[in-house]
Amino acid sequence: MSEADCLFCRIVAKEIPADVVHETERTLAFRDIDPQAPTHVLVIPKDHYRDAAALAAADHGLADEVIKAAHAVAEQEGIAGSGYRLVFNTGPQAGQTVFHVHGHVLGGRGLTWPPG
Ligand code: 5GP
Ligand code: ZN
Repeated sequence: MSEADCLFCRIVAKEIPADVVHETERTLAFRDIDPQAPTHVLVIPKDHYRDAAALAAADHGLADEVIKAAHAVAEQEGIAGSGYRLVFNTGPQAGQTVFHVHGHVLGGRGLTWPPG
């Protein structure tokens, strides 16, 4: 399940290179091209869902796998203990620019709250 013009589907298909840091049968994690923190990794399901709501509605455990993969990335990056933020921008006003659901794993520095 992919969309020909979707950037992250093209990364899954290896048509566009990415710095992959973690992979499972149904998930992929790669470094953000414009990192906002010392660790900034994007975790996606390999199948295409436009946002977190669509992923959760699919109701087959895939959202669970994505969150587990995000935590595995945090452990691998050495930030699971110090803390990290897992962000799913959902919709234009939240700043979502790529409409293939992705969790941002951010950490390695103190993160402020509230977000901008
Ligand atoms: P959003 O704004 O949709 O929550 O996040 C999209 C993220 O994808 C941004 O942080 C942006 O830097 C990242 N991004 C955009 N294009 C590419 C790309 O070609 N490769 C990688 N690795 N990240 C990308
Ligand atoms: Zn896609």
